[in-house]
Amino acid sequence: MPTLWSFLLVGRYAISILWWTAGLTLAMAASSCYHPLNRVRQTSSQPVLMLTDGRWLLDGRFEARTMYVAGGLFVDSAAAGHVTSSIDLGGRFVVPPFAEAHNHNIEASPRLDSLLARYLSDGIFYVENPNVLPRARAALLGKVNVPQGVDVLFANGGLTGTGGHPMDLARRNVARGIWRDSDTEGAFFWAIDSIADLVRKWPAILSQHPDFIKLYLLHSEEYQRRKADDAFLGWRGLDPAVVSSVVTRAHTAGLRVAAHVETAHDFDVAIAAGVDQIAHTPGFRGERGQLPDPAAYRITRESAMKASRQGTTVVTTLAGIAGVDLHGPDSSRRKAFDALHRANLTTLKDAGVQVLLGSDNYSGDGKDEAAYLQSLGVFSNAELLVLWTETTPRAIFPARRIGILQPGYEASFLVLSCDPVQHFQCVDSLTIRYKSGAPVGETRGAASR
Ligand SMILES: [Zn+2]
Repeated sequence: MPTLWSFLLVGRYAISILWWTAGLTLAMAASSCYHPLNRVRQTSSQPVLMLTDGRWLLDGRFEARTMYVAGGLFVDSAAAGHVTSSIDLGGRFVVPPFAEAHNHNIEASPRLDSLLARYLSDGIFYVENPNVLPRARAALLGKVNVPQGVDVLFANGGLTGTGGHPMDLARRNVARGIWRDSDTEGAFFWAIDSIADLVRKWPAILSQHPDFIKLYLLHSEEYQRRKADDAFLGWRGLDPAVVSSVVTRAHTAGLRVAAHVETAHDFDVAIAAGVDQIAHTPGFRGERGQLPDPAAYRITRESAMKASRQGTTVVTTLAGIAGVDLHGPDSSRRKAFDALHRANLTTLKDAGVQVLLGSDNYSGDGKDEAAYLQSLGVFSNAELLVLWTETTPRAIFPARRIGILQPGYEASFLVLSCDPVQHFQCVDSLTIRYKSGAPVGETRGAASR
C-alpha cells in the first residue's frame, strides 16, 4: 500500500516537527529537576498526562519530544486540553513495549502468576502462544488480555501427521500423570494424514475457537520415509500436500496460519502454500541438536523474496540453541549454528521479510532471543529495537494501533535509563512501564514518590 505508507511517513514527519517545537516550549516551562510523578494542580473532565523531557523512539532514532496521554491513547497537544498530571522523564529513552512471538509458557501452571509478573517487569506486553492445551486457557481468564496484563494470542492444538510433533510432548505429559488421554489428539494436537481427515476434523478445530491455526512441517522432503518409520516419532509432521488446503480453510474462516518448519524445504512448502507466518528459522535446532548438512537449512533467496512479496513473517526462535551447551563458544558446532543463523537472517533481511522476535524458550520470555540476535550482528541495535518493539507486536496484533509512539496509538511505553541504540544492554534499564495510559507493575526509580 504505497499510498497509505507515503501518507503515514509524511504525516509522521510533519507531526514530529510540530512535536519538536512544542517539546522545546514545554520543556522550558517545566521544572528542571526530576520528579517521577509530578502532579500538576489542574482539573479537567478527562485526565491528561503530559510526559516531558523524554527521548522517544521513532523509525529507529530517538527524538526529544513532549507527549500527551488521554483516554489510554497518545493524543496531540490540541486534543489534550488541560494537563492534569505530568511526568518529567529526565532525558531518558522511551520505547514501545517488547513482544515475544513464540512461547508456550503462558498456560495453566503453578508458576503462572510469577511468570506473568516477569513478562510485565521485563516490558514484554505482547505474546503469541502457537500451541496450547485448549482447556488450559480457562485458567488464564482474567489474567491475560486484561488492560494491565500481558496480551496473548493462542493457536490451541496444532495440526500434524499421525505420530508427528508435538504428539511426543503430549504423550510425555500423559506418562508423567500431568495430562489425561483426552488432552492428546483432538486437544493438544490434531492428527491429519489426508484432505479427508482435514474435512472431517475441521469443524471440531474451529469449535475450540483458536486465535490462529498452527501446522507442523518436519523434514517434509522425507515425508513418505518418516511416515513409515517409528524411529521418527515426534520428528515428522503434516503431509506437505495437505498444507495449502489448511491455509485455504483457515483464511476462509478469517484465521491466520503459522507453520512450524525445520528445513529449507519445509520453509519452501509453507511459503508456496501461502502461510502467514513461519514459526521458526530453518535449522533453529538442527536435527536433534546436530547440524549434519547445513545446506539443508539454508533459506533460498527465491523463497525469501516470495515470503516478502506475500507478507509472510518469520519468527526467529534461535535462543534455544544459543542456550544449549555446544562445548563452549569456540566449538565447531557452535560456530556452524551461528554461521547458519547469520546466513538465514541476512537472506531474510536482504529480501525485506518481516522478522519477528520469538524465542520458543519455555523458561524465558524473549529477552535471550534479543541478546542472541544482537550477538550475531546481522541487525544493528536500532534495527533490532524496531523489530522487537514495532514489527513484532504489530504482526501479532495487526488490527491494533500499537508499536508506534505517536498520537492515535495506544499509550503503551517503556522508559529506559540509557540509550539502547548505543548500548543494546540498556533494554534492561527499565524504570517506568505504561500500558494503555496506565502504569504497570512496580516502577523502579519511582520509589521515592
Ligand atoms: Zn514452539
